[in-house]
Amino acid sequence: MKTDRIIVSEEIRTKSGRPLEIGTGTGTQWKWLKLEQKERGKSSVSEELVSQLLTCFEVGFYHVDTAEVYTTHPEIGEAVKRSGIDRNDLFITSKFNGGIDEAPRTSKNPREALNKILKELDMDFVDLFLVHQPFFDSDESELSLESVWSQMIELKNEGKARYIGVSNFAVCHLERLFRNFRKSDYPVVNQIEFHPCLQNQSRGIVQFCQKNNILIEAYAPLAPLLGSSDDSQERQPLVSVLEKLSTRYEKTGAQILLRYCLQKSILPITTSSKRERIEQSLDVYNFSIRDDDMEMLDIEGSRYALQKFFKGAYENL
Ligand code: NDP
Repeated sequence: MKTDRIIVSEEIRTKSGRPLEIGTGTGTQWKWLKLEQKERGKSSVSEELVSQLLTCFEVGFYHVDTAEVYTTHPEIGEAVKRSGIDRNDLFITSKFNGGIDEAPRTSKNPREALNKILKELDMDFVDLFLVHQPFFDSDESELSLESVWSQMIELKNEGKARYIGVSNFAVCHLERLFRNFRKSDYPVVNQIEFHPCLQNQSRGIVQFCQKNNILIEAYAPLAPLLGSSDDSQERQPLVSVLEKLSTRYEKTGAQILLRYCLQKSILPITTSSKRERIEQSLDVYNFSIRDDDMEMLDIEGSRYALQKFFKGAYENL
């Protein structure tokens, strides 16, 4: 096993040609729209998030994850401006929200969403535009997976999104797109929850995506360290396994979990408000987890099911 940088995708790169690396998230830390109401009273941007993003850039992150529902585009735009980094050296992902109970749709369609997003970012394009979830598609909705995906393709062809993909899609949703669109227009990414305690968000999804050249991005990769809810104090059973591996590899549990994803050719998106942790999350390229330890994480992880997002959504698929 080589211990240098793992390139998870040869094809997906920044405009300047850098291969995709671990992303920094701007979602879960910022509590969606609640933050907007509480923090954005006077100022149009949250200085706290701008400063966190500047730390991420300083440390070496160049891949940033956001979404309509996170309302963090103005902060990303501001941080990019202040950083002085060439836009073409960054990789910025955002997502269209088709609407679910907890997060109703706020744009009519992907086009309206992306126009708003680009204005808030003060940019001409995003690198990757995702359909946030497939669950808006129902008899009552005026949007279908197909109508949304057609528009995603148009946005790609117009250059407003360099790549297009999906998030939280199960095999059945991807198969619908495969049936209705050309191969050159298939999604290139499926961003899902992934860690040793949730190795398949929905049945067979990782294998299916990897077989079809769809890159899996892992959100909540550190969930086994954190408990089942953000304010949970409970200790996860996998923590003792991670402590053992931490000692063996002289790395933190978080670094083990991030490296675990990379060794499966899965790209993690992680979030931290603390500089030390932000630095540590990119310091995962100078060691490799042995095959038997990878297997131990697989086996031990699968004994303790843990799903932080979209719980129950895949039961009947
Ligand atoms: P993580 O698994 O990285 O969890 C982040 C949490 O872990 C933070 O609370 C952070 O707290 C804590 N943390 C970070 N480093 C460590 C460490 N070394 N030890 C212990 N705790 C640590 O990822 P997220 O759940 O935040 O997901 C990542 C991103 O993915 C989101 O921000 C969002 O952009 C995206 N996402 C996408 C979803 C989708 O539906 N597509 C759903 C959910 C997330 P602290 O600040 O104290 O370090």
